[in-house]
Amino acid sequence: MAAMTKQRRGQRMKSVKPAVYLIANTQVSEPDIKQWLDDLDDSGQSYSNYHSSASGQDSELLIELAARRCYKSFVPGLNANVTKVRDDSKDYHANILSQRHGSVLSHATCTWSLEGVSRVLTHELVRNSVGNAFSQESMRYVRLDHIPFWLPPEIESDPEAMAIFQHTLLSLEGQIRKLNNRRWRIKQPDGTVEYKTVGEMPFHLKKKYTSLFRRLAPDGIATGIVVTHNMRSLRWIIEQRTSRAAEYEIRLVYNLIAKIAVSKWPMLFQDFESVDSGDGEEVREWVPKNSKV
Ligand SMILES: Cc1cc2nc3c(=O)[nH]c(=O)nc-3n(C[C@H](O)[C@H](O)[C@H](O)COP(=O)(O)OP(=O)(O)OC[C@H]3O[C@@H](n4cnc5c(N)ncnc54)[C@H](O)[C@@H]3O)c2cc1C
Repeated sequence: MAAMTKQRRGQRMKSVKPAVYLIANTQVSEPDIKQWLDDLDDSGQSYSNYHSSASGQDSELLIELAARRCYKSFVPGLNANVTKVRDDSKDYHANILSQRHGSVLSHATCTWSLEGVSRVLTHELVRNSVGNAFSQESMRYVRLDHIPFWLPPEIESDPEAMAIFQHTLLSLEGQIRKLNNRRWRIKQPDGTVEYKTVGEMPFHLKKKYTSLFRRLAPDGIATGIVVTHNMRSLRWIIEQRTSRAAEYEIRLVYNLIAKIAVSKWPMLFQDFESVDSGDGEEVREWVPKNSKV
């Protein structure tokens, strides 16, 4: 998790830094696995072999179990065609990846909250439509009173560019605040007219006006999105979105995620190499030996 600059209400032109939080990931149910394997193999050897030899995080265990179910390769002889089985989980996963048996990776999932990321990033990310779920901050419901912003390094390090960004953002914030504080003409059901600021309106009108004003917000506005990736699509997204061809911010965010993924699920990501992209340490490329399994 990277530090995210906290925002206090009322502060303006607050620069934020993207942060990622791994908030959930697959858990296996040991008693149910035992029941399942004992039902498949009443000798009890399949469960005993799994229990003594399989290793790794729950996501990795689940993927190994699903893959072994395909050939009933829990123990030699359970499938008469199988006379030997791999006992080392790392080797087992290496084989899944090199054989491109990628569908089994889709059983395990991980859920992240990405905070302080721009609408530029979220718009790009939601194009990865296969194997992912997204829940994005609603700018229809959440009222804008300031415009949090991540400043790309080229802007932050250039005083003239910074002045242009600051001026534009402060001006937009000022205009949005004016619209929020303005008294809008509201016709009541009984035909009378009242003048209310957004803060004084009933909720359905707050939502309506908030949605109108978001049109003034720039693409760079920092926001939040909860994303769930299955492990197969996470591998692809890390590869695609840390490539030097991708946009800097998404490279930065998926570098944070790649570092966590590689250390948390070392078997699933064992073929990834971190490569210097020439653009700095925070945007390295993560290149798998087995692309898009
Ligand atoms: C550097 C870069 C520049 C880009 N520029 C643009 C741009 O200018 N304009 C623009 O609109 N988009 C652009 N994109 C987005 C890009 O076209 C993809 O929509 C996005 O990257 C999602 O990747 P994906 O297609 O692999 O989708 P995912 O949803 O991650 O799909 C994974 C894989 O599943 C398969 N798949 C997915 N959908 C289908 C399908 N319908 N039928 C068959 N197979 C499927 C494909 O093999 C696909 O690669 C850009 C992306 C990058 C990385």
